[in-house]
Amino acid sequence: MPLHAELHRHLGGAIVPRVFWRFLVRAGHPLAVKYPDYESFEEFVTLPRASLTEFLELHTLVEEVQRIETLEYFVSKLVRGACVFEGILYLELRYSPFYRTDPSLSISQRIEQMRTIVRIIGGAAHQPEYPLRLRQILCMHSRLPAEVNQAVIDLAVTEPELVCGVDLAGPDTLYKNRMGELVQLFRGAQERGLKTTCHLFETTNGFHPELLPYLNRIGHGIQIPLHRPDLLPQLAERGQCLEICPTSYLKTGTLTDLSALRTVFDLCNRAGVDTAICTDNPGLHNVRLPFEFENLLTQDIIDFEQLRRCQEAAFRHAFSWPHQGSPERILHRMADPEHVNA
Ligand SMILES: [Zn+2]
Repeated sequence: MPLHAELHRHLGGAIVPRVFWRFLVRAGHPLAVKYPDYESFEEFVTLPRASLTEFLELHTLVEEVQRIETLEYFVSKLVRGACVFEGILYLELRYSPFYRTDPSLSISQRIEQMRTIVRIIGGAAHQPEYPLRLRQILCMHSRLPAEVNQAVIDLAVTEPELVCGVDLAGPDTLYKNRMGELVQLFRGAQERGLKTTCHLFETTNGFHPELLPYLNRIGHGIQIPLHRPDLLPQLAERGQCLEICPTSYLKTGTLTDLSALRTVFDLCNRAGVDTAICTDNPGLHNVRLPFEFENLLTQDIIDFEQLRRCQEAAFRHAFSWPHQGSPERILHRMADPEHVNA
């Protein structure tokens, strides 16, 4: 069985539609009333959206359901699915902890509750029968005040066993007016030893090279080879890896077809910039990691050699993967599942 590392996956987008719909039906949720049969619900969640901002409204909908009392259910199901159906051995799961807290609490109480969320997810992820190492990336969010985003960093620093890094998510149209503050947050995070990634150069709104020096990896970043290839040598020098999530670009209206990714892989290779293939939202897209690989192969965007390079890069750029070496060597170590979970 091939074994993969997945570096870019959102908790809000990771629940496959059938698990999500069954939960809504059992909970008597209004959405289950609106979409009484599974097929209509699946069509609703997987429908391509016109923009990233519109797509993110779906995340808001899921976040409202993923709260303290339901997180264990969702996380345990997604770990099982990632292990059994996708051959994922190492998973970095990202989410905004603030948006999982109880909205009836005050801001400071919600900030306090974020730690409970992190620990619930950590507990639910540890399932010895499914030997998958899961670490959390905590997302700051472009709609949240600086105080909350700073608290996300503080929390990440103090939970090193469960959290492996921080990210910035939310509509990239909102970055521009807060650039000074965002640079400070990322610089501060790195100074405190955190690994960083950021949704950046994903759409044509997200061109903010000022943030690049403070990142270990770049969430998407596809617009760099497409529109700012002059930046690629800097990326290579810093050893930054692009987290490429093919299906997302179709679902958010960023690309009309995947052929542009051929240029992305080509120019990155030539410049010596690593690329990893990720799912972003395998549940909402209904496309799991092996199918992301297969789609790129069957459309001749990549060949098997490129696929292998991307798979190895994913392990090499993982924020918390303890082992050196190729997936084949990792397979050998799998004889001891506790070793993987440790
Ligand atoms: Zn993402």
